[in-house]
Amino acid sequence: MSPGAAPAPTDADAGTGRPGAAAVAGAVAAARRAQPAWEALGFAGRKRVLDAWRVLILRRADELADLIGRETGKTPDDARLEVVLVADHLRWAAAHAARVLRRRRVPAGMLMVNQSATLAYRPLGVIGVIGPWNYPAFIPIGPVSAALAGGNTVVLKPSELTPATGRWLAATLAEAAPGQDLLQVVAGDGDTGAELCRSGVDKISFTGSSATGRKVMAACAETLTPVVIEGGGKDAMVVAADADLEAAADAAVWAAMSNAGQTCVGLERVYVVREAAERFLELVTAKAAALRTGDRPDADLGPIVLPRQVEVIRGHVRDALARGARALLGGEHSFAPPYVAPVVLADVPEDSTALTQETFGPVLVVNTVGSVEEAVELVNAGSYGLGASVFTRDRAAGRSVAGRLRAGMVSVNAVIAFAGIPALPFGGVGDSGFGRVHGADGLREFTRTQAVTSQLFRPPLRPTSFSRTPGTMRALVRMMRAVHGRR
Ligand code: NDP
Repeated sequence: MSPGAAPAPTDADAGTGRPGAAAVAGAVAAARRAQPAWEALGFAGRKRVLDAWRVLILRRADELADLIGRETGKTPDDARLEVVLVADHLRWAAAHAARVLRRRRVPAGMLMVNQSATLAYRPLGVIGVIGPWNYPAFIPIGPVSAALAGGNTVVLKPSELTPATGRWLAATLAEAAPGQDLLQVVAGDGDTGAELCRSGVDKISFTGSSATGRKVMAACAETLTPVVIEGGGKDAMVVAADADLEAAADAAVWAAMSNAGQTCVGLERVYVVREAAERFLELVTAKAAALRTGDRPDADLGPIVLPRQVEVIRGHVRDALARGARALLGGEHSFAPPYVAPVVLADVPEDSTALTQETFGPVLVVNTVGSVEEAVELVNAGSYGLGASVFTRDRAAGRSVAGRLRAGMVSVNAVIAFAGIPALPFGGVGDSGFGRVHGADGLREFTRTQAVTSQLFRPPLRPTSFSRTPGTMRALVRMMRAVHGRR
């Protein structure tokens, strides 16, 4: 099999009745064969390969951006931003894997003073990565780069909507590391993803909707395969009375409308304190109204990629309006599939689907609250807990609010800033999933922690031997009291 390319589905698949079975099995087997040599390269050797891959990606940045644009319909600038993020995250994982994962000594403590204690983060083996279509390069590169930097090999199942971007990543890595089969791609639909879950890989990193995440977890349970679930979100912004409203509105419109709202950490709801509400709503509405939607070259919003998603978005807008919400911009007339122009809604009841479910479209709900405390309560009442943001001129207060939000990531006076910082872990709580990609936690996610002790000398007291005497244990208790018996 040529590097980076998984075998095409064959009759064998039909024979098992399981689509993608042969392709997945072949890719996992090749990745498993390749893993020991890759691990043996060590951190420095792997860094050289990953750095070469990054350089190649940047050299061909336009090619990758074009491909992403073609597969997802996103605007050229959104696609370029994705390529830049890919390169930076890949650079970080390669540069920091040794520091985060190398073997280290830890204090052995008084009881085991005769031992040298070390811990190491060993590769798991083969990692299965299942990715969504909305950021077909940036999302997979998180787990792929961390897994590779840690000494694993990877089988990637991209969304059926974006197989070429996945193949492009594998092909460029194969060019940087000829004949090594480090990254295999299995193209196919959800059945192929399910097959990867059952294929015997050592861990699955899933990014997609929470509903699919539940299926992935159930499939992985059959083989006790561990999982990272990066699910959907319903990200919120809290706007305090003292906020820079111009900056908050600019950030809110960007976070809600870029990529036509099809971003897991896209902004879907704002809670603005009453004193600031009128001006904030004016600013948000004006900025969103200025955006261009459609297939024109200068468009700010491209299409809604999944046709069925248009109906989800429409359903949320209808539900909100039927329950008495005000449409400050757009409404039913914003829908011209596959395009949806920006919609801004105010006074949306908290039990409307526009506030309880992920909309994944260019719809922003802005509700007015009496205080920042009330905003925090409403943000935390949701079932998702991915990203959030807070706008206030008082940075200390902003950090305090951030600490009280039930979200995996929070930006103060910015939006989505955490996603652009490769050193920060990315992931959520609740329906948004668990586990982390990016940062040191993301590197450790694809390793098994191994604790090793090595005896330095024979201890004078031996409490873990049948040769111990009551005197041994009395001496031990006396010693413990002397050292740790006082506060
Ligand atoms: P889906 O959940 O529909 O699909 C995600 C991936 O899972 C795709 O590759 C899909 O394949 C595959 N898949 C589908 N069914 C199964 C199955 N039974 N077993 C294994 N794999 C399966 O998500 P979308 O692609 O539509 O992406 C949008 C969603 O992703 C949104 O909810 C968004 O919030 C979330 N997301 C979360 C992020 C995060 O980091 N938390 C980041 C980006 C997106 P196929 O496409 O071929 O059906």
